[in-house]
Amino acid sequence: MIFGFLTERRRGKIRARPFPEDWRKTIERYVAFFTRLSGKDQAELLGHVQVFLSEKTFEGCGGLELTNEILVTIAAQACLLLLHRKTDYFPRLETILVYPSTFIVEHKQPVQDHVWGEGKEARLGETARQMGTMVLAWDAVRAGAADAADGKNLVLHEFAHQLDYENYAADGVPGLATRAQQLSWREVMRNEFGLLRAADDTGIPTLIDTYGATNAAEFFAVSVEAFFEQPRALRAEHPKLYRELQDYFKQDPTEFSVEKSRRY
Ligand SMILES: [Zn+2]
Repeated sequence: MIFGFLTERRRGKIRARPFPEDWRKTIERYVAFFTRLSGKDQAELLGHVQVFLSEKTFEGCGGLELTNEILVTIAAQACLLLLHRKTDYFPRLETILVYPSTFIVEHKQPVQDHVWGEGKEARLGETARQMGTMVLAWDAVRAGAADAADGKNLVLHEFAHQLDYENYAADGVPGLATRAQQLSWREVMRNEFGLLRAADDTGIPTLIDTYGATNAAEFFAVSVEAFFEQPRALRAEHPKLYRELQDYFKQDPTEFSVEKSRRY
C-alpha cells in the first residue's frame, strides 16, 4: 500500500487501545449487523473504528450537536467495508458533515461550494471526490444502521464511493490488486449495469436499486448496499457480481446477514 511504516505503526497503536465500553454498547445497540459478526471480526472492526475516529473530522450542521452515538454509528458502518483487507482508511475523505435529517437539493445545485448532490430530489447524503467532504443525514444513518436487511444503507453507499475514489476516478472501479481482477471486474460490471439499465427502462422490479442505473459509480455503490444487506438474494440472482464483490471485500456477508426474504 501507499502509506508508510510510520503511519502503520501509529495506526497499530491506536487499534491496540482498549475500546471504550460505552462506545461498544452504543454500536451493539444501534448497528444491527455488529453482533452478528464473529468475535474476531468484531475486534477488527472496533480497531478500525478507533483509527477512523482519530483521523476524520466531523462537523454537526443544521443545528445538530455531535454525540458519541453519531460518531461511532457512522464509523462502525463505514469500517465494515475495511474488514479483512489490507487497506487505507478512505484516504480522500477528511471531513464528514452531519445534518439532522434529509436535506433537499435542486439538481446539480451545490449544497456548499463544490459539494454536489447526486441528482435526485431529496438527498440523504453525498460525497465529493475533490473536496474530501461527505455530507450525511443523521436520521438516514440511524435508520440504515437499525435495519441490516432492507437493501438500503446510506453509510455503506457513500463510503463505497470513497473506495471508488481511492484510485482517483469515479468510475465504479475501486483499487483492485491485479490486472486480471480489473478485467474481470470491468466485464462483469458492464454486463450487470446494462441489465439494470434495461430493467429500469422497462420497469421490471429489481433487487439492485435502479438508482444504480444512473452511472457506473452509482451502480457500484448500490451493489455494495445489496451485497451487505441482501447477500443471499444477490448471490442467487447475480452470482458473477456477487463473486467480484466477495473477492474485493474478502467477505461473505451471507455468514452474518439477517436477510429473510425478498422485499421487492
Ligand atoms: Zn451515490
